[in-house]
Amino acid sequence: MRGHLFLLIGPSGSGKTTLIQEVRKVLPAVRFIPTTTTRKPRPGEEHGREYFFASDEEFDALIEREDLLEWQWVHGNRYGTSRQRFEEAIASGVLGITSIDVLGGIAVKAAFPDDSTSIFVRPSSPQELRRRLVARGDTPGEDLERRMERVEMEFAQQGRCDAIVTNDDGHLEAALERLIEIMRPYLP
Ligand code: ADP
Ligand code: 5GP
Repeated sequence: MRGHLFLLIGPSGSGKTTLIQEVRKVLPAVRFIPTTTTRKPRPGEEHGREYFFASDEEFDALIEREDLLEWQWVHGNRYGTSRQRFEEAIASGVLGITSIDVLGGIAVKAAFPDDSTSIFVRPSSPQELRRRLVARGDTPGEDLERRMERVEMEFAQQGRCDAIVTNDDGHLEAALERLIEIMRPYLP
């Protein structure tokens, strides 16, 4: 059986990571596929689990070798997806899930049109996003403002995704149900 990639797209703080954790509790066969970033690990994050953490030089080398299917500057750091990691997952029947920004998600979907589903995770309002990011431990300041600036651009692209999951404050369960419904046709 061919695998499938579920691309969770949306602004930082929309709930992609939370939904990935929750969906994997219900569907343990779904595997998280980490991407690569030059951002420094947050407390508790491990190399190869949340991300493959790379130095600027290592990331330059990945670009030079054309290992990355796409890469983007997001909030002052670079993030990219390994073409090989996705190809291997699909070929070996893995149901993979990953979190990606909107431009990257659209690029990955274009590369694997039949083997991926792009899913926009939408919070109810930008104010809610700001509150969630602060609650998560992001310090108010330049970095948080940079994240908020991207929100408008990301919202404008949501119509280009295959599906939309609304993740309203306090309604994680409903968002999870909707996500599973979208994934169901690809489950064994
Ligand atoms: P992302 O991966 O999209 O950046 P996270 O999953 O890290 O977002 O979520 C950001 C914060 O919002 C986390 O603290 C998370 O616990 C919280 N959160 C996610 N979904 C909901 C929800 N439906 N209601 C309330 N808080 C939520
Ligand atoms: P964070 O730093 O909060 O973990 O992630 C910042 C943003 O980068 C999130 O929107 C996340 O989905 C996105 N992202 C993670 N990996 C990739 C990737 O490989 N490519 C692109 N384009 N975006 C990514």
